[in-house]
Amino acid sequence: MEIVRDPLELQRMCATWRREGLRLGFVPTMGYFHAGHLALMDAARAQSDRLVVSLFVNPSQFGPGEDLAAYPRDLERDSRLAAERGAAVLFVPDPEAMYRGPDVWVDVPQVAAHLCGASRPGHFRGVATVVAKLLLLAQPHVAVFGEKDRQQLAVIRAMARQLFLPVEIAGHPIVREADGLAMSSRNVYLTPGERAAAPAIHRGLLRVRDWLLAGERHCAALAGRLREFYAAELPEGRIDYAEFVHPETMTPVAEIDAPVVLAVAVRLGKARLIDNVLLES
Ligand code: AMP
Repeated sequence: MEIVRDPLELQRMCATWRREGLRLGFVPTMGYFHAGHLALMDAARAQSDRLVVSLFVNPSQFGPGEDLAAYPRDLERDSRLAAERGAAVLFVPDPEAMYRGPDVWVDVPQVAAHLCGASRPGHFRGVATVVAKLLLLAQPHVAVFGEKDRQQLAVIRAMARQLFLPVEIAGHPIVREADGLAMSSRNVYLTPGERAAAPAIHRGLLRVRDWLLAGERHCAALAGRLREFYAAELPEGRIDYAEFVHPETMTPVAEIDAPVVLAVAVRLGKARLIDNVLLES
């Protein structure tokens, strides 16, 4: 596996593979790999001849006061894991190489209006911009993104469609710890006590699924019951949002009569944890 730092070198490398008729699979990441990242790599590898992985802690998607400087990093371990997963190249650019000259932004304001887009202004503009750059560099046939960041996936799908990017955007199911906690590089911020409490986030989502099966279809009522559940089961958590949204547009829905995403963000100590489930009507 090669480690490439220069964007244009990655572009040349991938263009050569494409000309040779090889199918390219791509997984963009911010590193500090866990089993979720590795599952995405396996999925991309399974449907391509060359797996390209990028590792870039993208400054433009972090707001002031967020955890850009503290974000966990371990390039040595990540390189080993990506190589073991069959990556042909690990792209690790410097921020200066990715953002050079006057500003250019890609914005998807409607899909970014709610949920994390509302609590992290500018976040999805940073995400859409860097993913557009990465897709234009790697020019993959397929790029795989996790459903854990469901709004991010929706933003990227809308961006790829509107910009006519010739790439298939594939979603991958959330990979969870045995106790249900969605895997995240940010889980390292949790103290042992917080880590023990954190699976309640997912349990709450499963409760909502049960209440829906029992016949409650009104989102306001379900959200109220979910907040009560969290107040009892996760008293140390502060709910950033708990919202029912359309799976593609990420806009709020009032009643569940078609598939709906229930997305939550909870602050627990130093961590801000997100999770979601797709609810079938
Ligand atoms: P990150 O390094 O956190 O930016 O994540 C890189 C990619 O891995 C994104 O597409 C994420 O949605 C995905 N990902 C992160 N955690 C998980 C998880 N627990 N299950 C599935 N995909 C994940």
